[in-house]
Amino acid sequence: MSVIEGHTLDRDLDASAEVVVVGSGAGGAVVAKELAEAGIDVVVLEEGPHVPGSVYGRLRPTESLRRMGREAGTTPVLGIGDTPLITVMAGRVVGGSSVMTGGVCFRVPSSVHHRWVKERGLTMLSERDLLPAFEAVERESHVQTVPEEMRSLAAKKFVEGAARLEIPIKPFRRNTDGCCGCGRCNFGCPHGAKMSVDVTYLPKAMSAGARVYSDCLVDEIVTLGGSVRGVRGRRLGERSGKRQTVRGSFFVRAKTVVIAAGTMHSPQLLLRSGFRSEALGRHLTLHPSVRIVARFEEELKGWRGALQSVYSDHYEKEGITLNGLFVPPGALAATMPGVGRDFLERVSKIGHLAIFGGLIHDEGGGRVFSGIGREPFIVYRLHRANKAAMIRAIHILGEVYLAAGAREIYLPVFGAPPVRSVSDLYRLVTPQLSARKLECVTFHPLGTCRMALDARDGVVDPWGKSFELEGLYVADGSVVPTSIGVNSQLTIMAMAARIAWRIRDRLRDGRAGLVSSAVRRTRERFA
Ligand SMILES: Cc1cc2nc3c(=O)[nH]c(=O)nc-3n(C[C@H](O)[C@H](O)[C@H](O)COP(=O)(O)OP(=O)(O)OC[C@H]3O[C@@H](n4cnc5c(N)ncnc54)[C@H](O)[C@@H]3O)c2cc1C
Ligand code: SF4
Repeated sequence: MSVIEGHTLDRDLDASAEVVVVGSGAGGAVVAKELAEAGIDVVVLEEGPHVPGSVYGRLRPTESLRRMGREAGTTPVLGIGDTPLITVMAGRVVGGSSVMTGGVCFRVPSSVHHRWVKERGLTMLSERDLLPAFEAVERESHVQTVPEEMRSLAAKKFVEGAARLEIPIKPFRRNTDGCCGCGRCNFGCPHGAKMSVDVTYLPKAMSAGARVYSDCLVDEIVTLGGSVRGVRGRRLGERSGKRQTVRGSFFVRAKTVVIAAGTMHSPQLLLRSGFRSEALGRHLTLHPSVRIVARFEEELKGWRGALQSVYSDHYEKEGITLNGLFVPPGALAATMPGVGRDFLERVSKIGHLAIFGGLIHDEGGGRVFSGIGREPFIVYRLHRANKAAMIRAIHILGEVYLAAGAREIYLPVFGAPPVRSVSDLYRLVTPQLSARKLECVTFHPLGTCRMALDARDGVVDPWGKSFELEGLYVADGSVVPTSIGVNSQLTIMAMAARIAWRIRDRLRDGRAGLVSSAVRRTRERFA
């Protein structure tokens, strides 16, 4: 079976299933496969289009962002107070944001598990309890350590600088099989080498009988007498610019509904469906990230090698993870300072550039509101300690590159000139610098339907089950109880696997209960 494209259906969809899953990303795909393989009848509804892997390579990066990214990959966040201008990137396609990742895979750090257990009382989310789920998703996603020979010359420059400053560097683990280091990961892997859920979990779910629909935007969770009854929404057609055409509607009946629409959209859907939990939409964390570009004398061709190969967790206690990355040359040109000849001179040296990022383990200062149109309204206030960590990350990254012999470094500070010395770095980037001047991106929104022990503190219980409505579960980034300080896909998948296993067991118990009561009734009749 393959993906059923909602826009090609010649009539409105009226279907039923045992379980309906809203969203086909990292969380939704895992739930669909785990349940379908257990013999459960599953329907997956995805708002985005179906873009087969064979098409990725034919799209220009800007085209990929328009077709597969939400709001062309730039969802704005309204910063409150001393907060940078932040844009969030997310996928809107069959496979969700998983299709756009760099492939980096992390388990939840031990310190975060410890916090969940000790501070939030979530003893069932200990490192030991989540281990089987992590092992399962790592197996399915082919997580492997990036070999040293895949490191680009640009990554090696950072490793050299870090060694001079005695900062330990580690190889990333990534979900790849046969990666040739072409550097297109964020626009969909054209070689089928990135093991995103559109090539792993979803095909397995469909082989086991799950029906996966694209172009189906769920507008409402339908309820009756305190229980869930299904979902309804619109079948989407072509999109031209911001205009989205609608082809019709759908209604899918199910007594179990799993919302996996992502951290920004799951709370929106619940709010629009009348849910009123105190924590709903709150506690948004973003992992705000900064990156530094450095120019070296020699040519590095940073696009040759794995896009992301090394990182450092040396500053974990300060809430900073240093992540290696590279950006396609076209996008990189847009980040260069200067104008006219000065700018052209810099752009001609793109082959000489190296990039490294700093990801901040943030404190949950954001909120998602329902908004007027399709997209939610998102606000975020950067915690003072997290701003200090961002400044510290820029200092560390700058010092490493200068120690590695960079000719100049380009700061993620609007209007800042190129920097050639450590003293200039510290002079230009001070704790007093307005956060509004920091160039900041995020890829890992979490926490807006967080897991908690009770309804006063969260939206779902530690197994993803809604506190408000019988039969409703949430299984995506929104349930992660706090920021984790490392890339999020594997954590979301492990949580989703655990939630799916719980649903499977409940449905089996329910079936067993039905069978035994039918047997009892039959016995009673013939007794
Ligand atoms: C550019 C980029 C690079 C990244 N790199 C990495 C990385 O290297 N490593 C890592 O660990 N993480 C990375 N991430 C983060 C990772 O992709 C996400 O954490 C993860 O995919 C989120 O999973 P999710 O299930 O919460 O949401 P998603 O995967 O975003 O899935 C949600 C899906 O639900 C759909 N949806 C939303 N609303 C509705 C609705 N009402 N009806 C129907 N469908 C709906 C959306 O269209 C979407 O497809 C990256 C993200 C991006 C954008
Ligand atoms: S670098 Fe590897 S995983 Fe990324 S797009 Fe190229 S082949 Fe795919």
